[in-house]
Amino acid sequence: MSNENKSIHEFDFNLICEYFSAIERQGPGSAEMTVKALSFIENLNNESRIADLGCGTGSQTITLAQHGPGQITAIDLFPAFIDHLNQHAEKLKLHDRIRGVAGSMDNLPFQEASLDLIWSEGAIYNIGFEKGLKYWKKFLKTGGYVAVTEASWFTGSRPAEIEKFWMDAYPEIDTIPNKVACILESGYMPVAAFILPEYCWTKNFYLPQAAAQRNFLEKHKGNATAESLIRNEMHEARLYDKYKAFYGYVFYIGKKI
Ligand code: SAH
Repeated sequence: MSNENKSIHEFDFNLICEYFSAIERQGPGSAEMTVKALSFIENLNNESRIADLGCGTGSQTITLAQHGPGQITAIDLFPAFIDHLNQHAEKLKLHDRIRGVAGSMDNLPFQEASLDLIWSEGAIYNIGFEKGLKYWKKFLKTGGYVAVTEASWFTGSRPAEIEKFWMDAYPEIDTIPNKVACILESGYMPVAAFILPEYCWTKNFYLPQAAAQRNFLEKHKGNATAESLIRNEMHEARLYDKYKAFYGYVFYIGKKI
């Protein structure tokens, strides 16, 4: 198909989607850390309603279904990611537990006070941590849980290069105590917070990208947008390697008061 009639935006969208569809995760994380976070959630049963927001191709959705009970609705903006998840769920015979739906995390299709658990790994930043926590709360039952990973500073001050990178990328990044305070102020009791280990970024996220990048560049030789997408991803990986003592993802678990 020719790209002549496509807007740049549409083209970027498709490229990003293609690039990230080739790897298992679209953000740092691991099955072990998903299971660890799940261990803090009490009272789930077969009737429990769970939403996985910004699910990507659904690696953590599958883990949730394999390690806990309940019905999971997984939502992502990219329909291609949702197709991928639904096919994977079907293959694993989990399709009666997982329903992938294309949609946006800032316009949820749930009734108020209908959910027992809202999950979101590496995705709440898309609408912002505070906005997400406050908006999602009304869909949870009282006593229901939210479990999210969020970029957080590990130290009170940081080298200028990494500070600038994050201020451009996601200025809502903050220290762990400030994030915990935000959870409280948003109407949740903080239940647990733990830092994702380094392998969640390196072995599980940046390393699989390195192989995918070679194929992607080969396929899109001479395409400036594709090349700049890869340059960005490589830059991000280099920064992580250099500054991982100063930031990372933290799993935050809160209980609706
Ligand atoms: N949870 C997955 C994906 C994280 S990447 C993982 O950890 O592997 C962030 C995801 O959020 C992407 O799949 C992106 O398509 C999705 N996303 C971005 N904006 C969104 C929005 N407004 N609503 C729902 N999903 C969104």
